[in-house]
Amino acid sequence: MRKWTYNFGLGRSEGSASDSALLGAKGANLAELGSLGLPVPPGMTIIADACTWFHEHECHFPDTLLDQVAKGLNQIEESTGKRFGAAHNPLFLSVRPGTRVPVPGMTGTVLNIGLNDQTVQALAKETGDVDFAWSTYRRFIATFADLAMGLDHAVFEELLEEKSGKSAIANNPGLSVEQWRQVIEAGKAIVLDEMGETFPQDPQEQLWAVIAAAFKSWTAPRAEAYRKLHSIPVDWGTAVNIQAMVFGNRNGNSMTGNAITRNPKTGASGVTGTFLPRAQGYELSTGDRAPHQISERGRKEAERTEMSLEAMLPEAYETLEEMTQKLERHYRDVVELEFTVDDGYFWILESRLARCDIRARMRSAVDMVHEGLINREEALTRIDPLELEQLLHPAIDPSVEREVIGTGLPASPGAAAGEIVFNAEDAVHAAKEGRRVILVRSETSPEDVYGMHAAEGVLTSRGGLTSHAAVVARGMGIPCVAGAGAVRIDAEAGTMTSMGVTLKKGDHITIDGSVGQIIRGQTQMVQPELAGDFAKLMEWSDAVRRMGVRTNADTSTEARVARKFGAEGIGLCRTEHMFFEENRINVVREMILAEDEDGRRQSLEKLLPMQRSDFIELFEIMHGLPVTIRLLDPPLHEFLPKVDSDVAEMAERMGLGEEELRRRIEAMHEFNPMLGHRGCRLAISYPEIAEMQARAIFEAAVEAAKSTGAPVVPEIMVPLVSLRRELDYVKARIEQVADDVAKETGVFLNYLVGTMIELPRAAFRGQEIAQAAEFFSFGTNDLTQTVFGISRDDAGGFLTTYRQKGIIEKDPFVSLDYEGVGEIIKLASERGRAGRHDLKLGICGEHAGDPASIHFCEATGLDYISCSPYRVPVARLAAAQATIYEGATPKAAVY
Ligand code: PEP
Ligand code: MG
Repeated sequence: MRKWTYNFGLGRSEGSASDSALLGAKGANLAELGSLGLPVPPGMTIIADACTWFHEHECHFPDTLLDQVAKGLNQIEESTGKRFGAAHNPLFLSVRPGTRVPVPGMTGTVLNIGLNDQTVQALAKETGDVDFAWSTYRRFIATFADLAMGLDHAVFEELLEEKSGKSAIANNPGLSVEQWRQVIEAGKAIVLDEMGETFPQDPQEQLWAVIAAAFKSWTAPRAEAYRKLHSIPVDWGTAVNIQAMVFGNRNGNSMTGNAITRNPKTGASGVTGTFLPRAQGYELSTGDRAPHQISERGRKEAERTEMSLEAMLPEAYETLEEMTQKLERHYRDVVELEFTVDDGYFWILESRLARCDIRARMRSAVDMVHEGLINREEALTRIDPLELEQLLHPAIDPSVEREVIGTGLPASPGAAAGEIVFNAEDAVHAAKEGRRVILVRSETSPEDVYGMHAAEGVLTSRGGLTSHAAVVARGMGIPCVAGAGAVRIDAEAGTMTSMGVTLKKGDHITIDGSVGQIIRGQTQMVQPELAGDFAKLMEWSDAVRRMGVRTNADTSTEARVARKFGAEGIGLCRTEHMFFEENRINVVREMILAEDEDGRRQSLEKLLPMQRSDFIELFEIMHGLPVTIRLLDPPLHEFLPKVDSDVAEMAERMGLGEEELRRRIEAMHEFNPMLGHRGCRLAISYPEIAEMQARAIFEAAVEAAKSTGAPVVPEIMVPLVSLRRELDYVKARIEQVADDVAKETGVFLNYLVGTMIELPRAAFRGQEIAQAAEFFSFGTNDLTQTVFGISRDDAGGFLTTYRQKGIIEKDPFVSLDYEGVGEIIKLASERGRAGRHDLKLGICGEHAGDPASIHFCEATGLDYISCSPYRVPVARLAAAQATIYEGATPKAAVY
């Protein structure tokens, strides 16, 4: 015979915590609590498959279920010494549906099943409290009518108020039995009038109606919509938990509360939580009464005057402490629980792993290692790496109210406040005067970078998570909210409008780049804290992880920040980003727009010392750690002058007429610059550019090795290769320069030449390309673009629609598409290593800072990941977790 019900409670349970597919999360947890000998009110769980059976059989119950519930009830009756439906000493029940994963829209809990005209009197007699018994009965009728019959609770209360006066609604209004009877009769009449059915007096009928309602709510429209959205199969069904009632509102020795084994904000040990005397669970969330603190310490910290449980009922408090310790030892994690004290007797109604702030999670994980409860690896898996990022930046003080006036994409984390400015010049000007500003633009381009440097944060109305603003802000470590489509910016008029609020230049806003919010006014901040538990967890991560963690850094500021966060080298220096500064961009423009090689060489002469000094600084900061420098890879549209004033300035600099300059700009126009004359294509057209860069790198390496005493092994990276011959051509130029510099300086350097894998053809030809390359670095931004055929600049808009319509789960520019892009990475890695067995493999696209993508990198056997500076701690922890989950040997890779 099919087993439909599992009993639990009083030291014996038929299920356990691992049975959530069968018993639902709640049922599995109750079973576990029961077997631990913790005081859960005895009960049984109807398994989730019964729900499926019910729906497959036109909402009938299997006969065998009826029998088993009856037997289960007998057991509950035996353990409690009460009988369901008896006129004397009756048993009352609660029924709660329990799904495997949370599904909003399921029916709620029904308490006090079994109350009727007879049993209410027994309850009144047993408790000696008429008001308690009858008001409980009244509430039961209302809840039953709502959840089992479909009569809206609010409508019921309104009608009852009309029929029997306001006093009927209050909790213990001091009515006589006769008056109570009238209230109840009025309630029953409302049910009959509104629903055409009588409120059932038979406890069995009540029970089965509530079970049926729980099953039906699984297929009700709200739950169904949620299940579909989250791909939760209908045949998972919902389990149903039936439990003996305990009353937190019985008398002065009764209460209901929530407790958590450690402080959920700080992680400090010692039970915390709140309770309400003489109350049932639902009252905790209404906020009608001020909750009491559980411990005296908590009361003092919260500066409350209401008596604590510790002071009120010291014995119950002691029991609670014992139980929370037992639960923590059992689950080896921070646990929260819901409890009821019924006439001095302590019951646990539910427990689950606690939701804590990141600071509390870190502290409790570290403390539990020291307490011998968990080991270091377990501690590392307790932390969500992405949550670490909020610790690295100033954040909005959590206790402060936010006036949110708009939202956009959380493009670069952290929060910043300042005056609104609408262009880079104003940002720089204000910063010089010591004022803090937020740069607000429809989108940013290289001309804005010096303004971004001066600003505290950036807000754009257009662009996605890999837009210029997003990538540059992340690199700089300043907050950015991008693509806030509803914000209207009128830069000419100096205003921005969002959600009906118009702000002007100089007004204050705050942006929260961690969640993508735009907030009116200047908001209070809290500063980052990198020592203590954070440092400990980082140290443990480093001891565990196999992959190296480098950073993408183009400036000395970024390189220093990344070192502070533990980067083990630079995996990508985008040299074109080194030319964004105002005095350099014009030299680069001169070079790009030069008519011939001579003209280009003149500009390159000017760029060489700038590049060399920048590289020296990077090498010195990295002090012998590997540094990968990528040859110039500028999508041309990002560099050509756009606005009239820039064209005029350039024409003057170059001694050309504006018309002539416009002709040259026009000649360079590309329809699709991301797939245009960029990457190694530029170095092939104009090898003198690559030669200048190679010279700057080698000369800088010689210098830095002298100044630091640490040998530098530069890694020169050739971008956007698809053919081996492209790489051969550029590599030959680099080697020639290396020889020249060696002869000139008398220093023979070790260096590597490698390539980015950003194009499918390069991946497919990995074996032959690896014969010319000493390393591959997967440029997954471009690789995603080229594998999907989706432009990284234009994807923001429609990918959001794709997500909303369930066509994709995650933005592939944020989290690696394992199935397509990932497959190509695997293939290129295998073919690359077949071409060169010690080929070094890394990744430097934005994905290298995404924990799910980092797991993929571990599984694929990459040697290192390289991410933006503020993602370095995230990557260190995620790489450690990936090593733990993949079972790899720590630190096996040489990178
Ligand atoms: C990439 O394409 O992944 C990459 C790192 O290069 P960029 O973003 O500069 O094109
Ligand atoms: Mg690229």
